Amino acid sequence: MNKTRPGQMTIRGISGSPGICIGKAYIVDREGVNLIKRYPVSETMVSAEIDRFKNAVIKAKNDHAKVIKSLDHDLGENLNILETHMVLFKDKMLYGKTIETISRDMINAEWALRKVSRKVKTMFQQIDDQYLKDRINDIVQVSDKIMSHLVGAQDIKIRDINKRVILVAHDLSPADASQIQLERIKGFVTDRGGKNCHTSIVAKSLKIPSVMGLGRASVSINNDDILIVDGSSGIIIVNPDEDTLFKYEERLERFEAYRADIERDSHLPAVTSDGVTLNLMANIELVEEVVSAKDNGAKGVGLFRTEFLYLNLKRFPTEDELLQKYKELVELMNPEPVTIRTLDINGDKVNPYIDPVEEANPALGLRAVRFCLENEDIFITQLKAILRVAAFGNIKLLIPMISCVEEILRVKAVLNKAILELENEDKIFNKDIPLGIMIEVPSAVIMAEELASHVDFFSIGTNDLIQYSLAIDRSNRRVAHLYQALNPAVLKMIKMTHGAAQKKGIELVMCGEMAGDPINIPVLVGLGLTNLSMNSASIPVIKKMIRNMDFKLACKNAKKLFEFQTTEEISTFIQEEYKDILPYRETEE
Ligand code: PEP
Ligand code: MG
Repeated sequence: MNKTRPGQMTIRGISGSPGICIGKAYIVDREGVNLIKRYPVSETMVSAEIDRFKNAVIKAKNDHAKVIKSLDHDLGENLNILETHMVLFKDKMLYGKTIETISRDMINAEWALRKVSRKVKTMFQQIDDQYLKDRINDIVQVSDKIMSHLVGAQDIKIRDINKRVILVAHDLSPADASQIQLERIKGFVTDRGGKNCHTSIVAKSLKIPSVMGLGRASVSINNDDILIVDGSSGIIIVNPDEDTLFKYEERLERFEAYRADIERDSHLPAVTSDGVTLNLMANIELVEEVVSAKDNGAKGVGLFRTEFLYLNLKRFPTEDELLQKYKELVELMNPEPVTIRTLDINGDKVNPYIDPVEEANPALGLRAVRFCLENEDIFITQLKAILRVAAFGNIKLLIPMISCVEEILRVKAVLNKAILELENEDKIFNKDIPLGIMIEVPSAVIMAEELASHVDFFSIGTNDLIQYSLAIDRSNRRVAHLYQALNPAVLKMIKMTHGAAQKKGIELVMCGEMAGDPINIPVLVGLGLTNLSMNSASIPVIKKMIRNMDFKLACKNAKKLFEFQTTEEISTFIQEEYKDILPYRETEE
């Protein structure tokens, strides 16, 4: 009997987060604005088409006015930008020209608006004035808002989806993903995204399966199609036949049983068979994740990515709001340490509310500490909240993306200003907190010894270190296969950083995703890294592996790794050497 239903289709992508889910597809396509069609409008319909355009402008303007009204009024520059947008809605260049184009070319409003906004964009690009160049983004945003009303595409509100579905999107921002309600959404798949982009990191924290980098899946899948998402293998199956469905239902059961089994021992310490204790901590994005971090056996938070508070709020939080959130976190984690990393926005966490400038190369742009040093008031507000919460718990302060000594010196100067302000305001705080930097830019590795003289600890951020040292955009699916943690160049950089930290007697942590992938553990342990912070869902499996490992043997094996010249040799060696303790992974046949 042929049980194959016509239409079964397998699409290969990149594993975003492990696990399997089966369910109905729910398309969330905010990129509707890019799928605009051109169609002619008859002479008698031109004025109706113009009215349709005008209505869309009114709706977009009303929405925008609501946003402005809901915001805090000490937002300075950002509020100005939003108010500028208000004016742009009725600007002659965009509004007037679009109406003119509809009636002159007798075409639909969407096409006319797109034509005009592209023209304005090109015109501004040619002007030799940075201020005007920066206004391009304003035009694009305003025209996108009008367009979404024209094509009927509203901003997706993932939080409001109330069906048990699998999300299918062209792209999901990390902030979108962090809004997912676990009881409703089983998993998600996206056309875009690469290895270790922030959206996949959020999916792992939520423990929901996801596959990313699927190319054009969102156009091939329809609402209510049955989907199998195999996040571990990085594939999805659309409208599976009965046999496939059955096979995956069994696999799902096995995966859940395996996870439950591993999690049962998550409270046990991470001690190697020859008695070396490792310190496993959790990376978290939202305060709410602390409970699951503790359940998974984390001995503290090794990385708190604070930017998600800002991204979800869509405005700058006040010092007191930050303090309150940090306090919740610290009190839940006490007495274990909490490492608070200062704002790391831009890169793949661009948010026009925070920084409205569109950059050609965001990963190489005004990201993380660079943004904070340029926006000292935002930085000081956060530093003050961190210093204040340090009076309530075991806090460490971590600065992302440091690329040279000057930067850490500037950070220290700003930190001193924050301390002075707190003293003048008579607030309770604690300035004796360890100060650390992320080692995630190759120049920081090269200058590690010099940098170590200025800080108390290093935290290796392999997600970016791999991106920047191998020149692989971590959000780009086309080069995802080249994004390799076990690349010999990456291993040499880790070794160099470890050497510098040891020589200067400072603490070393690794908080990149590399630390949460079992295959890397023998290498990291063998290189002497004993403080690992990871996605909390990975902690139980990594703990189990460590309990089955011999530290001395790992050190001996790690030396051998440097005799190899390729990633494949290294990976084969580890798989062979540690085949008995690497977790069993089911792969598709
Ligand atoms: C890293 O780069 O490894 C890291 C932990 O930071 P993020 O993933 O937030 O860039
Ligand atoms: Mg990073």
